Amino acid sequence: MPDKSPSSEVTQAAAPETVSAARKIYPIVKYGDSILEKPTTPIKKFDAELEQLSEDMFASMYAAQGVGLAAPQIGLNLRLAVVDVTGGKNPEAKIVLANPEIIHAEGEKREEEGCLSIPGFRGYVLRPQFVTIKAQNAKGESFEIRGEDLLARAFCHEIDHLNGVLFIQHLSMLKRDLIKRKIKKLRKQGEW
Ligand SMILES: [Zn+2]
Repeated sequence: MPDKSPSSEVTQAAAPETVSAARKIYPIVKYGDSILEKPTTPIKKFDAELEQLSEDMFASMYAAQGVGLAAPQIGLNLRLAVVDVTGGKNPEAKIVLANPEIIHAEGEKREEEGCLSIPGFRGYVLRPQFVTIKAQNAKGESFEIRGEDLLARAFCHEIDHLNGVLFIQHLSMLKRDLIKRKIKKLRKQGEW
């Protein structure tokens, strides 16, 4: 999920934490790649490699100016996502979600949403205002966390990714088809 500002993905400098040379910055898979529409495989092995991957995902997300990133978006069929709605400003806001599930949702909120895999397109999506999820961290430890507003939205958006669902599937058919047509045109022009 990208940051609030539509232009931020291309104009802002990367957050300081992403400068570390040890981190791998993955290119973001774009809409049209079938991996984005497949349900992911649960994570069973929690090891140093998974911790590395999670940190690389944070770095890749900050580099792309996002507030959430799911493994299919870097081409991996894994039930793993990272979220940081502060965009790297607060290290304590970094959340690794391995095998996340929504266990409680409350209220409704309609806000504009975008996706790093569908750059340049946004749409209003109705999401719960409060969401409680259950997940494991990169070490395999289970935890529950409650999110409100943008954080709740980010949890829902990333868990959707892990189920092979993109935010455009929550839009009206008219709006979704318009976006799909524009992407088709961009692809023909070699700009997607
Ligand atoms: Zn997304």
